[in-house]
Amino acid sequence: MHELSVVTSIVKIAEQEVHKIKGKKVLELYLEIGKLSGVEISSFHFVWPQCISGSVLHDSLLYVEEPIGRAKCAECETEFPIEKSFDSCPKCNSPFKEILSGKELKIKKIIIK
Ligand SMILES: [Zn+2]
Repeated sequence: MHELSVVTSIVKIAEQEVHKIKGKKVLELYLEIGKLSGVEISSFHFVWPQCISGSVLHDSLLYVEEPIGRAKCAECETEFPIEKSFDSCPKCNSPFKEILSGKELKIKKIIIK
């Protein structure tokens, strides 16, 4: 499962950050997981508790932002919301576009004690 490897790498990064500043644990974690990132948010929350058990993220508060997908058509320059990365332009039907947001998959902020 993709979500499992995503959570595993988040735990790894958090461990490194805590060690870097000789902290004890993570108090709060802020993530950005875009609607087009390929991460299924319900699966993410499902694997989360199992993966963080016993790690520096144990008992931490998790905040997840989910930026919606937006794209700009390469042909007619219309900006439109997209749900899947292969959606085409609603105005001219062109499949060529620039993704403006929604592919985010990152740690925004991490608060360590
Ligand atoms: Zn267009």
